[in-house]
Amino acid sequence: MPTLTETAFETVIGLEVHAQLLTRSKMYCGCSADYASAPPNTHVCPVCLGLPGALPVTNGAAIELCMLTGLALNCRIPAYCKLDRKNYVYPDLPKGYQISQYDLPLCVEGYLEFESGGEVRRAGITRVHIEEDTGRLLHRTAEDGIDISLVDLNRSGVPLMEIVGEPDLRSPEEARDYLIALRQILRYIHASSGNMEEGAFRCDANVSTRAVDGSIVGAKVEIKNMNSFRAVERALRFEEQRQRDVLSNGGRVPQETRGWIEARGITVSQRTKEQAHDYRYFPEPDLPPLSVNTDVVTSIKTKLPELPIARRERFVTAFGLSAAEASLLTAEQSIADYFEAAVGRAATIDEAKI
Ligand code: ADP
Ligand code: MG
Ligand code: ZN
Repeated sequence: MPTLTETAFETVIGLEVHAQLLTRSKMYCGCSADYASAPPNTHVCPVCLGLPGALPVTNGAAIELCMLTGLALNCRIPAYCKLDRKNYVYPDLPKGYQISQYDLPLCVEGYLEFESGGEVRRAGITRVHIEEDTGRLLHRTAEDGIDISLVDLNRSGVPLMEIVGEPDLRSPEEARDYLIALRQILRYIHASSGNMEEGAFRCDANVSTRAVDGSIVGAKVEIKNMNSFRAVERALRFEEQRQRDVLSNGGRVPQETRGWIEARGITVSQRTKEQAHDYRYFPEPDLPPLSVNTDVVTSIKTKLPELPIARRERFVTAFGLSAAEASLLTAEQSIADYFEAAVGRAATIDEAKI
């Protein structure tokens, strides 16, 4: 019988990513989706201000980009999906609910292939669904010294998608590599800028620890507030160690949400399971469900470019590059295009010489 300190532990990680979709207008109204450069509360209308009686209209381009993402992630697009209300109260949410998708998402059952530790790995994608962003709160101290919060609703209703991954990742490095690959794909297909610092690509990480022999299974802890790949990896490494320490000492890891404090390099408890929200999801009554025609799926599929992993492999075989060189040259589509164009020209010049 091994003692607790000798127990071999395994880490289980599953990521939830919110990515802002690259559309001109918002998810359910015609307002500009550009929230960063406009003065506060100028890109707003009755719909995204949540005024009573205002009716939403679905942005078709956002649905297409979400489907394109699902297809790039090898998902199935069910013939029918619907939108649901996720209800909660917060000052950045004037409607009192977000329009999201609950039990019938747009894309399901896919996978992401990514490179990690010199190997190509595969992690399941549970679902990709449509969401909308909230407004932003700006916390300031006024001239009289009083703390105030200002609300900017330019971001309210900006199209997002949530990409939920299966708990298939086994280390913080793997989680980072998965995120890098996911971001690369989103940029290749022009679905999202993937800019993490600007919040266009946000990740919540779920992590649990279990004994390899199955004798101990810790609960899932969700970590929030990481705004770089490095932060995700650091937060997961911290949390992995914390959970192992607790379990090795005979303790219990409760199910909870923890926040990453970048400056201190630690996670702290924010909310336990008992305090979990009940969002009271119900079908959105103001929007029709979506029937997805197979012809539409087929035509969106034709818009998929060659994706990073395939392109990298082709660069190795076609141009005799090393895997590392090919990775570097295919990390960004524009660089890969430039390289191919340059090689094409060099080949023409060579032939002209002969
Ligand atoms: P919830 O209902 O709390 O949202 P889900 O089962 O839908 O939980 O999973 C949400 C996320 O948590 C997914 O990304 C999934 O991969 C991850 N996850 C689920 N179980 C575990 C686990 N045992 N350890 C780590 N992550 C997990
Ligand atoms: Mg969740
Ligand atoms: Zn609007």
